Amino acid sequence: MLSVSEAQQRILAHFHPVGTELCPLQQAAGRILAEDILAGTDLPPFSNSSVDGFALHAADAADQLNFPVVADIRAGQAELPVLEHGQAARIMTGAPLPQGADAVVMVEDTDYQERLPGSPAPRAVSLHSAPQPGLNVRNRGADLQRGERVLQAPCRLRAQEIGLLAMLGVPRVAAYRRPRLALLSTGSELLPPSEPLTSGKIHDTNSYTLNVLTEQAGAEVLALGIAADNRAEVYACLEKAVDAKADLILTSAGVSVGAYDYVKPALEAQGRLEFWQVNMRPGKPLAFGDYRGIPFFGLPGNPVSAFVGFIIFVRPALEILGGSGWLERPRRTARLAEAVESDGRETFLRGIVRDENGVPTARLAGHQGSGNLFALVQANALLILPSGVKSLPANSEIEICPIE
Ligand code: AMP
Ligand code: MG
Repeated sequence: MLSVSEAQQRILAHFHPVGTELCPLQQAAGRILAEDILAGTDLPPFSNSSVDGFALHAADAADQLNFPVVADIRAGQAELPVLEHGQAARIMTGAPLPQGADAVVMVEDTDYQERLPGSPAPRAVSLHSAPQPGLNVRNRGADLQRGERVLQAPCRLRAQEIGLLAMLGVPRVAAYRRPRLALLSTGSELLPPSEPLTSGKIHDTNSYTLNVLTEQAGAEVLALGIAADNRAEVYACLEKAVDAKADLILTSAGVSVGAYDYVKPALEAQGRLEFWQVNMRPGKPLAFGDYRGIPFFGLPGNPVSAFVGFIIFVRPALEILGGSGWLERPRRTARLAEAVESDGRETFLRGIVRDENGVPTARLAGHQGSGNLFALVQANALLILPSGVKSLPANSEIEICPIE
């Protein structure tokens, strides 16, 4: 039997990033940047005032605080006055600093009382005190300079990265295409949640869980629905994945040794199937291979097993396909509030981790059956017992994997 990390490594060796495309900023949220971004301009692009006030040469205020106001400068203004020594200009927040000025005294620190929109600039202004040079001035290039590398690929574009790109006047960037994952639930017992249960049937759960996990991993889902346990339906669905040029096929159920499991023969006929027993719990059976050249994962059917299998095997594959690379999460641990047991396989228990007196403390979230999705709903972490460990007493340290 393969260990979890051996299975991961063997699987991930098959994956490479999908191609890149130009992506408009409006659609770039969550995408993985594929090229480094160098600043094409200084930021700020020109020296400007950070307050509404009066621009002047700071040294001119050394012996007297009264200034004639010779100009009025608004944000966005192109033509600028040149200040002589001893002169001031009224200036608005974000307006360019005129030549001859090196400080701005905020309006509240002067005798100018008008606050109504449209009030004209005064003829003269008196300062409450002398400013230091540089006061309330945002100098050109103070935040970053033209040519500086501001984003390093690959990185996930969040609101702040996208804002910075906009600030730099970059309307579109090269990003990895979203991987396309074809998703199929198999099983003649499955009905969509919109249909009432009839005898022997259950609702298709995995299509929904795996759809969300796939989107959270930055990929697109090509929903193939449900295939009953028969050869024709399984083939028809897999062919749809080929037609749609999926980057990855993900199925759940139908890959164990049941008499009506048709996924395995389809792969054996049209691709390659490696079927593994992975030394883990839940989710020991795992099929991996390709269908007509498209990488294929067959997760177990039980909803908790499918969830855990996705987190451990499919998510890393999507991260590689999607260009970000497999981001091994930082190792985190918690103190066990109760004893836990398993059978010696690497075990992913559904747990609740809370801060108790400053110590992350873990408890089990209900009974640990591989179909009990309710326990997973209550959980906020998987608690990981390493292989070979059959029990851990209360107060021991346990590794955890937080889940959203
Ligand atoms: P199998 O791998 O086909 O033997 O399925 C294992 C268990 O998971 C069985 O109890 C199935 O009914 C159940 N199961 C399979 N697929 C799904 C699904 N999409 N949603 C919920 N339960 C499922
Ligand atoms: Mg089945």
